[in-house]
Amino acid sequence: MSRLKLKLTRNLRRSVLRGHPWVYRDAIAPAPDLEVAQLAHVSDAKGEFVAWAMYDPHGPLALRVLSLDSAPPTAATYAARFARALDLRRSVRSSETNAYRLFAGEGDGLPGLVCDVYDRAAVVQFDGRGPSEFWPKAEIAEWLLKHAGVSTVVEKARRKSGDAALTLLAGDVCDPCPIVRENGALFRVNLEKGQKTGFFLDQRPNRDFVRSRAGGKSVLNLFSYTGGFSVYAGLGAASRVASVDVAQGAIDLACENWELNGLAPGHHSGICADVFEFIATDRERWDHVIVDPPSMGHSEEGKAQAIAKYVSLFAAAAKKVKPGGELSLSSCSSHVSFGDFLELIEEALSQARLRGQVLRVSGQGEDHPFPHVCQELRYLKFVHLALW
Ligand code: SAH
Repeated sequence: MSRLKLKLTRNLRRSVLRGHPWVYRDAIAPAPDLEVAQLAHVSDAKGEFVAWAMYDPHGPLALRVLSLDSAPPTAATYAARFARALDLRRSVRSSETNAYRLFAGEGDGLPGLVCDVYDRAAVVQFDGRGPSEFWPKAEIAEWLLKHAGVSTVVEKARRKSGDAALTLLAGDVCDPCPIVRENGALFRVNLEKGQKTGFFLDQRPNRDFVRSRAGGKSVLNLFSYTGGFSVYAGLGAASRVASVDVAQGAIDLACENWELNGLAPGHHSGICADVFEFIATDRERWDHVIVDPPSMGHSEEGKAQAIAKYVSLFAAAAKKVKPGGELSLSSCSSHVSFGDFLELIEEALSQARLRGQVLRVSGQGEDHPFPHVCQELRYLKFVHLALW
């Protein structure tokens, strides 16, 4: 088979050699008309080899770098990356944690390929049409069955369409709502109807931190989803916890997850409400308020608006903290950098006329690695403050 050869028109050699994983279409010479994504040999404007990449004919992200070696990557190259990814999760997988991200796309040298493990189920997800065409699904599923300790592998469609969200790739019929363990806490996860692959695995270390500070406190968890932070706060002996989310299904699961962990039902309230309306009307103050909203900045253009929204939300949340209490703030918007985030917190606290002592600055857990040259993939920000 003749190999697809593509040329960079912009001087991106240095960026690619440093490890940046992407090249946009406006930086390559026009490519032949292709129906599906495939491996491409990429050279610079002088015709010198730069990298092997996945060429995606469908969108603006034309190239996802696969290898800088002169020989093309093969099935063995990818299998070695799968094994390396598994090995890097050795510190996460334990009798206390059986839910984690096994393949984190670009962060594991597997562009556009995500795989989350939920106990005995592996949920594979592709970042768009190109990666879905490129990666050999059957081989990946076989590898997972053999090496990852799972008995079923399903693919989850990224966006809800008329199709079933889960497609069996290999192994046994999948239980769509398994119970998983995370740092010893139990969660029922809805793989089919839940957000992302079912659970926000990236917040695991931050939830653990919240548990460590919850003793004796009243905790308000805004944008709670299925009660991740709430359950940890309960396990950390919070006196009372409230979970607020606009999705009734998420609140039902939050209540179920609370009880699953043997926590007293009377100490938790699941509130199905719009957070913006809730904080405008609820008069109560809490020892600890957690704010983990959905992504707000979907593009560079929308960034200023997203930042303004975060500022007013965080300022309103800060005012719901009792004097001397604590505030956890988070953002998963990749267009908002850590620098932006710390700055917008300054503005929010200033508007609330409060000062903060930063007790923790962190991001996604170690099972969500990102290439060291790609800050966009360092998307999760988490800052915990004591207020005065
Ligand atoms: N902290 C959670 C993840 C939060 S994801 C965890 O650790 O698992 C964001 C959540 O915000 C989603 O569950 C979504 O339903 C909810 N949401 C989005 N907009 C909302 C709004 N205006 N009011 C309340 N909840 C909202």
